[in-house]
Amino acid sequence: MDARECRQPPGLLRPVIDRNRCEGKGDCVAVCPHDVFLVGTLPANRRQELSLFGKLRGYAHGWQQAFTPNADACRACGHCVKACPERAITLVRTRHNGRHDASLAAD
Ligand code: SF4
Repeated sequence: MDARECRQPPGLLRPVIDRNRCEGKGDCVAVCPHDVFLVGTLPANRRQELSLFGKLRGYAHGWQQAFTPNADACRACGHCVKACPERAITLVRTRHNGRHDASLAAD
């Protein structure tokens, strides 16, 4: 994907992954021009947060999911949102009154 399509400065929005939907297919990794994503294994202690359907889905896919270690680089082009076949990604605002939302900082 062309990074020139990303017009927002980094740090305003970031992708959040619905853990009950993600199947770790990696389309987000492929399309993101700013290397925000990687696919890895959902840790065992985070699997308990999932719904029953999410657990079944996670088990079926070897607990592979997308993560956002480089979320601060997101420039809100929306390519990942469109590319995800499971509709698991949404873009959310990271700042409220100039502060980062700490609840989103560890994904
Ligand atoms: S919107 Fe998605 S594809 Fe675009 S920069 Fe952000 S994380 Fe990458």
